[in-house]
Amino acid sequence: AKGAGRNRYSYFTPTLQVAALNRMRLTNDLRGALKGEQFELYFQPIVHLASGAIHKAEALIRWNHPSRGLVSPLEFIPLAESSGLIIDIGEWVFRESARWVQRWRQQHYAEFQVSLNQSPLEFQREGSSYQGWLEHLQSLALPGQSLVVEITEGLLLDASSAVSNRLLQLRDAGIQVALDDFGTGYSSLSYLKKFDIDYLKIDRSFTRNLAPDSSDMALSEAIIVMAHKLGLNVIAEGVETPEQRDLLAAAGCDYGQGYLFAKPMPAQQFDAFLHATAGL
Ligand code: C2E
Ligand code: CA
Ligand code: CA
Ligand code: CA
Repeated sequence: AKGAGRNRYSYFTPTLQVAALNRMRLTNDLRGALKGEQFELYFQPIVHLASGAIHKAEALIRWNHPSRGLVSPLEFIPLAESSGLIIDIGEWVFRESARWVQRWRQQHYAEFQVSLNQSPLEFQREGSSYQGWLEHLQSLALPGQSLVVEITEGLLLDASSAVSNRLLQLRDAGIQVALDDFGTGYSSLSYLKKFDIDYLKIDRSFTRNLAPDSSDMALSEAIIVMAHKLGLNVIAEGVETPEQRDLLAAAGCDYGQGYLFAKPMPAQQFDAFLHATAGL
C-alpha cells in the first residue's frame, strides 16, 4: 500500500510538492492571522501631478507572519481567495481604511480619499451588498466619497449582471470606482462607456517604458485622452523617476503613484508624512 501511494503521487516533482505544502501551511497560518493581529494596512500617496497635492492614498495590506516575516499580498491574497478567508480580510481592510480616512479628513484635507483593493471573488460575492459598509461609514460621519474601490478590468468582461449590480450598489452608496492595472489584460475602452467608472489606473508596465516618442508614450497619451473624454480621471502607477512624472504630467495625466513620491508605509508613518508635506 505504501508503494502504491508513492506511485500515485510520483508525477509530482519534488519542487511542486514543496510548493503545494508551502501553500497549505500558509493557508493554515492565514486562518489565525486576523485574530493574531498580524495584518497591517500600509498607505501609499496618490499625487495630483499638476499641483503636487496629496489628497488620496491607496491602502495595501501587509502580513507580518510570526516566523516568515513580511509575506507579500501577491503570495497570500490568492490563498485567501481560495480558502474564502478573503471576505473577513476584506472587511478588516475596509474598517481600517475607514478609521484612517476619518482621521485624515479631519486633520489633513476634508475630501481625502482612501482607495482599497477588491479581488474579483470579493467583488462578485453573491448575496452581498454595501449596506454594512454604508452603515459603518455613517456611524463615523463619513460620506461614501471617502472611499474608492479598485477592481481589475477582467471583471468587466463578465457579462453577468452580478458585476453591474455591484457597480450600481457602489454608485448608490456614493463610493467611487477605479479600474486597476489598466492595459494589462483585455483592455477595451468600450466597457468604460458601459460602466460607471471614476478612475483609470494605468499599469506600471506602461509607466516603466515611458520615453519621448516611444510606443508606450503614444499608448499612454491615447489612453489619457480617451479616459478624459469619457469623464474618467487617470492615475499612473509605478512612477519611479522625475522623467516619468514629467512625461505623464505633459500628457495630461491627473495623478501619479510610485516610489518617486513614496513607498507604501504604515499608517502612523503615512500620518506623519501627510503632516510633513501639508505645507507644500
Ligand atoms: P496593485 O493594486 O496593483 O498595487 C500596486 C502595487 O505596486 C503594490 O504592491 C505597490 O507596493 C507597488 N508599487 C507602488 N509603487 C511602485 C513603484 O514605483 N514601483 C514598483 N515596482 N512597485 C510599486 P503590493 O503592495 O505588494 O501589492 C500587490 C498586489 O496585492 C496589489 O497590486 C493588489 O492587487 C494586491 N493587494 C494589496 N492589498 C490588497 C488588499 O487589501 N486586498 C486585496 N484584495 N488585494 C490587495
Ligand atoms: Ca490597486
Ligand atoms: Ca495596480
Ligand atoms: Ca497589480
